[in-house]
Amino acid sequence: MKQPEIRKAKPPTASNLHPHTGKIPLREREQRHGHRGCVVWLTGLSASGKSTIATELERELFRRGCQPFILDGDSVRQGLCRDLDFSERDRHENIRRVGEVARLFSDAGFICISAFISPHRAERDLVRNLMPPGMFIEVFVNAPLAVCEQRDPKGLYAKARKLKIKNFTGISSPYEPPLKPEIELPTDRLTVMQAVEKILKLLEKKCRIQSKSGKASGKLPGAIRWSDW
Ligand code: ADP
Repeated sequence: MKQPEIRKAKPPTASNLHPHTGKIPLREREQRHGHRGCVVWLTGLSASGKSTIATELERELFRRGCQPFILDGDSVRQGLCRDLDFSERDRHENIRRVGEVARLFSDAGFICISAFISPHRAERDLVRNLMPPGMFIEVFVNAPLAVCEQRDPKGLYAKARKLKIKNFTGISSPYEPPLKPEIELPTDRLTVMQAVEKILKLLEKKCRIQSKSGKASGKLPGAIRWSDW
């Protein structure tokens, strides 16, 4: 398989930019939400379970009074990224845009759940590096290719095998597994709810979300230093 060309984040093309600083510090937004903002980045093969897990995670976080929001590959490609295809270059641009949007959500104190195949390690690291340390939680949704192919809920593997889809991850395009994800979910051995529970456990610690029993697992400190994570 051809190795992708990964470009570094480029400086803005425009000059004379003077970003405006608002008057609401992140700390105040987070105190209002009752938890820290972060990005839960689900990566894995098609049909590994990213969207299924994202949906259940969002539901449970909402039930606990949190502010979650999902960014999902197929939805984003109908709007923000509708001009992009699945070539290596456009996939890179897709992840770059989504990474910037995810960052905006976490800056607003949301728990942004991103469900994207995001096959390249360097691209995921690029997104990680957009955020303060600790704010990016990489979740490797790890099901063997054979299992994903057997699930094939959208019939995409069947099409890719018949060469009706080009550049299909795992078949005709590479997937680079994370080397040190914050969480790994072997979805061939975990139920959806077990997978969700593992993420929630980490968010209880990292984002101070309420535990299942309704108890907040930690007081939000007055001044949050990301280096404390
Ligand atoms: P992706 O978003 O990674 O392409 P989807 O969530 O759309 O994957 O599809 C995964 C399919 O696998 C769904 O039909 C889901 O019901 C099924 N599935 C079976 N077991 C699991 C599991 N433990 N976690 C997530 N999905 C699972």
